[in-house]
Amino acid sequence: MTPAAFRLSIPRSVMSGLRSHLEAGYPLEACGVLIGRIDGQTYTVREFRPMRNTVVDRPHDRYRFDDLEHLRVQREAEGRGLEIIGIVHSHPDHPARPSAFDTNWAMDSRDSFNAYVVARVERGGMMEARTYRLSLERARFEEEPLLIDDAGEKPPPG
Ligand SMILES: [Zn+2]
Repeated sequence: MTPAAFRLSIPRSVMSGLRSHLEAGYPLEACGVLIGRIDGQTYTVREFRPMRNTVVDRPHDRYRFDDLEHLRVQREAEGRGLEIIGIVHSHPDHPARPSAFDTNWAMDSRDSFNAYVVARVERGGMMEARTYRLSLERARFEEEPLLIDDAGEKPPPG
């Protein structure tokens, strides 16, 4: 038996805010964090928070958070009983999977997140977003299901 998968659940409205931010950043990498709650095996996202990409020499294929901004967002979320569940970044004109650089960065980073979302933005339009989890031995990324949650959203007109 395979262990139960973790899954990331994102309301459609939050997904569209995420999409806007990543598309606006094109052709540079854009990034942000997912804030919400962890319920058992499900990560329930409440908000997407855009973050500044502080990389200046090669922002078309690298991103880095501002440490102070990250800390401020984290404290603010915790103050409301929420937490940073995961991080998001775009791959302009590249596949929606972690690069070798992303994997090495996650392995070496002192911060670890439950979900690492990578989105492919092609010619300014977000084509797909996938979510990954760092394996237990922190050696590689494994894809997890990303669910777009329509609950609580207004039904489409007509
Ligand atoms: Zn990347």
